[in-house]
Amino acid sequence: MLIGVLGGGQLGMMIAQAGIRLGHTFRFLDPSPEAPARGVGDLMVGEYTDTNALRQFGRGLNVVTWEFENVPTSAVQVLSRATPSYPGVALLEIAQDRLSEKTAFREIGLEPARHLPIGSLPELRDAVNQIGVPCILKTRRMGYDGKGQFVLHKREDVETAWRELGRSGQLILEGFVEFEREVSLIACRGKGGGIAFYPMPTNVHRGGILRVSRVGEGAEIEPELEHAARAAMSKLMDGMDYVGVLTFEFFVVKKLDGGRTLIANEMAPRVHNSGHWSIEGSRASQFENHCRAISATELGPSVLLHPAAAMVNIVGEAPRPEEVSRVSGATLHLYGKEPREGRKLGHITLVGTRQQVESGLSSLRGVPGTMIEP
Ligand code: AMP
Repeated sequence: MLIGVLGGGQLGMMIAQAGIRLGHTFRFLDPSPEAPARGVGDLMVGEYTDTNALRQFGRGLNVVTWEFENVPTSAVQVLSRATPSYPGVALLEIAQDRLSEKTAFREIGLEPARHLPIGSLPELRDAVNQIGVPCILKTRRMGYDGKGQFVLHKREDVETAWRELGRSGQLILEGFVEFEREVSLIACRGKGGGIAFYPMPTNVHRGGILRVSRVGEGAEIEPELEHAARAAMSKLMDGMDYVGVLTFEFFVVKKLDGGRTLIANEMAPRVHNSGHWSIEGSRASQFENHCRAISATELGPSVLLHPAAAMVNIVGEAPRPEEVSRVSGATLHLYGKEPREGRKLGHITLVGTRQQVESGLSSLRGVPGTMIEP
């Protein structure tokens, strides 16, 4: 099949690397000629809002997908007229607005953080009084990697927060969740309705950017939390006849009785950074299964092949390959991007026993671009 991908970033690149092995070919649309996917398919340089570019991009495609959730829904709608597009525009629309995302979480039985929509400074003042501090003001749309967010530590921060974000369109104020850990759930639903769930990673973010994910033994996921997350995701996927990979991000919160509960933070109707471990860690990676789903082929096994695995993001500066290859069980993936502060340039995966993975993580501490805390 000729698969069209909106966005030529590293996620698109890794979708193609997996899909090429299944016999597919790829075409990407991206505004940048430097897009990382340029080496794994035809890269068409153009804007997602340019109807002519979309028409040319769509010619001859068998199926369309995307690699980032802020892709204009109008682009998907234009392409869907001639070509099947997965995972479908319905959840894309929901996931692009933090308010509708939280409503969707509630509908499938997941609790989001306390929140209120904000349209003016007086509304923000009222909301801060209701929710209390600390709290986070976020743009409802177009936020990623912690961008478009302002943490209010005290009530007097209201004016500064409004100055920072007041002009960025509709906003949402969220209560600050005193979480113990962050976790995510990634699953892929095939056309026939079967769902391949990946084991849940525990994720460490710094400065709003994912730094390390652990899966398997090192993730220490409570089975009842994983069960609840899976049940909710199945409900959403089945209800929408979803096809492809979907990701939920959660906070794990300790309850007064000592138990744990999940607070749903975000959803992404696409492959996800916290699932990169699956390239080496499972038989069918999230990228492979996404290709299998959208091309109506049977899904592959998503179980972890080792007792543990981890993924370390490379942000801002890249290590020399030999700094990674000396670590047993480690594989370096670079995206071919120019180094820039805060930019994801690649990632490292580690597989093995829990002890091997943790000792690999210790050996990688201090390697340029990584941020691994003890
Ligand atoms: P987001 O863009 O919503 O995924 O936020 C990026 C990161 O900021 C999250 O992974 C958390 O580490 C942190 N964060 C976002 N929202 C909250 C919240 N309501 N309470 C505590 N931390 C948050």
